[in-house]
Amino acid sequence: MSKSKETSSTAADLERMRRLAAWTARWLGTPRQSPFCADVVETATGRLVLRRLNAVADEHDPSSHAEVRVLRATCKRLKKLTLTGYTLYTTCEPCPMCMSMALWSGVDRVVFGATISDAARHCSQIYIPARTVATRSDMKCTVAGPVARKECVALFEDPRMQAMIRTWRHSKRPAPKTS
Ligand SMILES: [Zn+2]
Repeated sequence: MSKSKETSSTAADLERMRRLAAWTARWLGTPRQSPFCADVVETATGRLVLRRLNAVADEHDPSSHAEVRVLRATCKRLKKLTLTGYTLYTTCEPCPMCMSMALWSGVDRVVFGATISDAARHCSQIYIPARTVATRSDMKCTVAGPVARKECVALFEDPRMQAMIRTWRHSKRPAPKTS
C-alpha cells in the first residue's frame, strides 16, 4: 500500500516551502505584495527553475495567478509543452484554474502551503480542493499539503497584507467546507 496523498510531503518539501514563504514575505509592504507565490522545481534535484508572484493587479489579468504565471514562464523558458520531471510549489492550495493548469502542464507533483479554507478567510475562493480536481482527471499528478502551513497563512495575516486585502473586492458569502 503506497503512502496516502495526505502524507506524501517530504522534509525537502518543508524546507523549500519555508524558503518560498520567506521570500514571499520580503515583498510585504511593497506594491507587489501578495500571499500567493509559486516555484517550479526540478523534481529529482530540487533545483529551482523559476518563481513567480501573483500579478493579477499588475497585469490587469484575472488569470495571472502565481501558479499559472510560473508554469507558463517555465514552459517558455524550457521550450517544453510538458513539465514531466518538475514539481510545482505554491504558498496556497491551487484554485481549480491553477490546478487544471498544473495537470495540463504535466508536472509530477503539486505541493501547497496554506489551504483554500485558509485563504477563504481573507479573500474569495472557489471551493473545490486541488485533490478533487486532480482525481477528476486521467492525468497523473500527486498533490501534497498543507506544508509549512503556519508560515504561508502568516502571509495572509500580516497587517500590511490585511490592509491590501481590505481593498480587494470580495464576496460576503460564507465559506462552505472544502473537505
Ligand atoms: Zn489560482
